[in-house]
Amino acid sequence: MKLPRGIFLTFWLSTCVSAQTPDWCKSQPRPAYSKLERVEIPDQWFEVYKIRPWVFAIYEPHQAEEVISYLVIGTQKAVLFDTGMGISNIKAVVEELTKLPVSVVNSHTHNDHVGDNWRFSNVYGMPTNFTRTNARGSTTDAQAELAPGQICGTLPTGFDPKSYRTRGFHISHWLHDGDRINLGDRTLEVISTPGHTPDSIALLDERNRLLFTGDTFYPGPIFLYRPETDLDAYVSSVKRLAGLASRLQLLLPAHNVPVAEPSDLPRVLDAIQQVRHGQAKSLRKDGKREYVFEGFSFLLSQ
Ligand SMILES: [Zn+2]
Repeated sequence: MKLPRGIFLTFWLSTCVSAQTPDWCKSQPRPAYSKLERVEIPDQWFEVYKIRPWVFAIYEPHQAEEVISYLVIGTQKAVLFDTGMGISNIKAVVEELTKLPVSVVNSHTHNDHVGDNWRFSNVYGMPTNFTRTNARGSTTDAQAELAPGQICGTLPTGFDPKSYRTRGFHISHWLHDGDRINLGDRTLEVISTPGHTPDSIALLDERNRLLFTGDTFYPGPIFLYRPETDLDAYVSSVKRLAGLASRLQLLLPAHNVPVAEPSDLPRVLDAIQQVRHGQAKSLRKDGKREYVFEGFSFLLSQ
């Protein structure tokens, strides 16, 4: 029997797609995005969402990290909180959104947050050895981001997977806990939150009741298994952020979804304390231990 061409094509396409599509990709778009205001930009790699007036999330949905960088614009200058994977050009996206001078501040210097730092001349960093080492650039972690199952959809035209690496960058200013970055009509306060890495920070916009949490909290598996992670420091940092929760209106995390409830922070604190006191059950996952809670989990080493 000869199948009508349309049916054959549909069958062929669906087998192709299912063979290539990783599970995380099938659940996209994440439901939370339907409620957000999307801003159209020419670059197909990024998606931009306006979260608040003059606060934009720059999301990379086509790579498994689903990393989110943020552009916060004041009347005098703007801060780009992370520069993403370095797979497409985030600087060009930022220039579509503001003509003001832009300073880069990193939530921490893991490769998926500093990928386009090299494109900027004004980059703030925390004075840790971890930061200084990462500022030299690296290849291994970047290449791992392109492993089978890590990409959903297509890579940008002109991107060369073979030569992909995190390029080195120059830190022009050192930051410290409590520093305030004045953007004109808004101020971002640096809150040192070591734990996930030694150089992790959160940014607090107190007047607008926003907290940019970096990788200290996001709705998803929170990575706490790498050698640079310090679990005791992480507990202290979460405790500090949880103490701010009642003054906040919104959390803006660095992966998966750019909006979360401040009431999540005390829950994260309770959860990590349960883990540390041996009161939580874990599952084995890819050679790690995963402790699952409602809306997030912790991935620890064995
Ligand atoms: Zn990280």
